[in-house]
Amino acid sequence: MSENELEQLRRRIDELNEQILDVISERASLVQKIGEIKKQNGAPPYDPIRERAILDRIVEKNQGPFNTETLQHLFKEIFKASLNLQEDDRRKGLLVSRKRKLEDTIIDINGETIGDGKQRLIAGPCAVESYEQTRSVAEQVKKHGVKFLRGGAFKPRTSPYDFQGLGVEGLKILRQVGDEFQLSVISEIMSANDLDAAEQYIDIIQIGARNMQNFELLKAVGSSNKPVLLKRGLSATIDEYMKAAEYVFTSGNENIILCERGIRTFEKATRNTLDISAVPILKQETHLPVFVDVTHATGRRDLLIPTARAALAIGADGVMVEVHPDPSVALSDSAQQMDFQQFDAFIDAIKPYGLYTQA
Ligand code: PEP
Ligand code: MN
Repeated sequence: MSENELEQLRRRIDELNEQILDVISERASLVQKIGEIKKQNGAPPYDPIRERAILDRIVEKNQGPFNTETLQHLFKEIFKASLNLQEDDRRKGLLVSRKRKLEDTIIDINGETIGDGKQRLIAGPCAVESYEQTRSVAEQVKKHGVKFLRGGAFKPRTSPYDFQGLGVEGLKILRQVGDEFQLSVISEIMSANDLDAAEQYIDIIQIGARNMQNFELLKAVGSSNKPVLLKRGLSATIDEYMKAAEYVFTSGNENIILCERGIRTFEKATRNTLDISAVPILKQETHLPVFVDVTHATGRRDLLIPTARAALAIGADGVMVEVHPDPSVALSDSAQQMDFQQFDAFIDAIKPYGLYTQA
């Protein structure tokens, strides 16, 4: 083969490469258009029957030199890339996504704002155990100029034999104490049946990690006019988490606070693994405020200060912690709640890192 002939063949290959690029790009644009139509019709992007039919047709037309398996493999790669394009477009389409709304969502709760750059604290006992216990914690919360009091009334416990919470009675106590100290109150519900009571007694409805993908519950709180704090699921990816928030949003409730609370990994040194980089990712990808629950993320009192500092430094809109008058006798999470002295030290340690409090 002469030098000249090789040159010519290579030039022809270059031309063909360009043609393949043109054709493959045109195909991608068509796939995007099809994706749009499917979205409007509510159809899923992946259609295995159609994919099988295309592959069969290609195999039928094949005259070599590639064998069937090689051709199928090549085309499957093209299908995969096309499907990714459609999924990217869908993700762009999420209403909670920053691509759909550039400005930060700012949530007003009784005149206090969340998501406006002031880094807030939500503090309170793991569970509302009694009026006296909740009141004594609220007093400490108030003393430090913190405006949000938490307390579980419906407790998601791993064992059915463990304390399940006081139920609606707990919500009433929280409301009474909140009113006494002018604090906004937040509590979890686990069932849509408790939504009416939640709307009557509390200011922010929490959806716990175990219910992040309880889609009926998400739709129910989506129909409420109370802000929702949605915890990240124990093993939820960021994509799944955003889609869970989308359920609340598309059901009509745009006041959503996200809360990273640690995810399950192989690591045993902490109760969960705090995925700190989820904070800037969620801040970039969504327009919603993002909190970090350092108590449940670590399960360790000695790690609350460093992780809360990290959360504030990385740009979280706030931090959540648990405080109890006497953690050793707490009915839940006794190993990780702070007593009042520890809470004082915690506040002192994180204030210089940007925590916003009011006198
Ligand atoms: C809680 O905040 O009371 C709680 C149970 O947290 P999580 O759902 O994150 O486990
Ligand atoms: Mn707890």
